[in-house]
Amino acid sequence: MKLYNSATRKKEDFVPNSPDIVKMYTCGPTVYHFAHIGNLRSYIMEDILEKYLRYTGYNVKRVMNITDVGHLTSDADEGEDKMLKGAKREHKSVMEIAKFYTDAFFDDCRRLNIKRPDVVEPATNCIGEYIEILSRLMDTGYAYFAGGNVYFDTSKLERYYIFNDFNEDDLAVGVREGVEADANKRNKNDFVLWFTKSKFEDQALKWDSPWGVGYPGWHIECSGIAIKHLGEDLDIHCGGIDNAFPHHTNEIAQSEAFLGHKWCNYWMHVLHLNTNSGKMSKSSGEFLTVSLLAEKGYNPLVYRLFCLQSHYRKALVFSWENLDNAAVTYNKLISKIAALKPGNGAVDKAAAEELRARFTAALDNDLNTSLAVTALYDVLKARVNDDTKLALLGELDTVLGLDLLQTAAGKRAVDEKAKASTGEFNVVSESGEEDADVTAKIMARAEAKRSKNFAEADRIRDELKAVGIELTDIPNGAKWRRM
Ligand SMILES: [Zn+2]
Repeated sequence: MKLYNSATRKKEDFVPNSPDIVKMYTCGPTVYHFAHIGNLRSYIMEDILEKYLRYTGYNVKRVMNITDVGHLTSDADEGEDKMLKGAKREHKSVMEIAKFYTDAFFDDCRRLNIKRPDVVEPATNCIGEYIEILSRLMDTGYAYFAGGNVYFDTSKLERYYIFNDFNEDDLAVGVREGVEADANKRNKNDFVLWFTKSKFEDQALKWDSPWGVGYPGWHIECSGIAIKHLGEDLDIHCGGIDNAFPHHTNEIAQSEAFLGHKWCNYWMHVLHLNTNSGKMSKSSGEFLTVSLLAEKGYNPLVYRLFCLQSHYRKALVFSWENLDNAAVTYNKLISKIAALKPGNGAVDKAAAEELRARFTAALDNDLNTSLAVTALYDVLKARVNDDTKLALLGELDTVLGLDLLQTAAGKRAVDEKAKASTGEFNVVSESGEEDADVTAKIMARAEAKRSKNFAEADRIRDELKAVGIELTDIPNGAKWRRM
């Protein structure tokens, strides 16, 4: 499989450090609010990557952090702690909102068919790990203590900017206006590893450390949690493109300074979800959540399909119209699958192999999910029996996660029920005799009853009675006899 590596800015063959397990790390949510669907786009695409790796035979161990402390309103250590902000907003404790929004996040994931990572670790669980990393960084001179905080000294690195050709001006853009720059920093890009004095006053959670009572910076948690659960070598690190700088850049700086060697081989970044007015965020425009989509009557998997229809390295524009189009596509796909008729279960293996190859070719090419979706249509159109189609669709959907067979089975059941209730009307005679004229009259009466024209129905009954035909209603039909 070829995967675009943001660190080298090239598509590369994916080769894990160990042939039998892929070690994968994902930056998790900061649980101070609901995730918006733009955040969830990243998790959907990462889920596809994980499921595809498993599909192709790898074991995967995937770890995700939950940020419940230390993430300030600006990613560059400015502003207040987002968790504290959320707690104030809702007049609850930090731990209460952390629990509430962690549960809400995984509920959204469940509705979008995003698998829960093997390990999910709240940042507040690993203070000991961060202190161990910081102690070594202090010993080796990569970190310094100033104004009560511990900082990483970026000037000690040969290469700091990994992902983009960021420069000082780009960083300045990320710092919100009206927030004072931290005068303790030796270099503008230095970042906080441990806070004590700065923003300490009303910080809810704090721990003892060799540098005083305080709390960890945001970036250190991902290095601490990844190294704790995945060891010194990571295969793939994922996240939204927002995280590339400064967050991932800082993760690499501190992890490699701590380990003394290269840390992670492949970096996958998912591009933004935009609205027509710009990048989606919690603070601007409509706050789009999975719950909102559900309230408006969308199956959340329609949003998943919408994401799969475009490549993860392209910005995607969300509009209700675009989502409606995805809903039409999804429903058509389900109708086609619902129309397939399972037979004796015989699968045409050679044909399946060829169709499967189109699907894997798409995903092998840097996760081309839109072509992988097209491969579903190739299956539906193929000249093979329905058993082969159903088996393949079910198999490919273990990666795509669109609940294709389950939803189609549901539709089939509903359709059959509807057919049974309005369904075929049977006319039988007690003697077994058939009479086209009588049958036609009885059908006309049934039609009149269906359209609630009871006067007409009674008239036909009387007309038949007048020629000696007696009617009895039976389930799904009528029986008649000559009197
Ligand atoms: Zn992270």
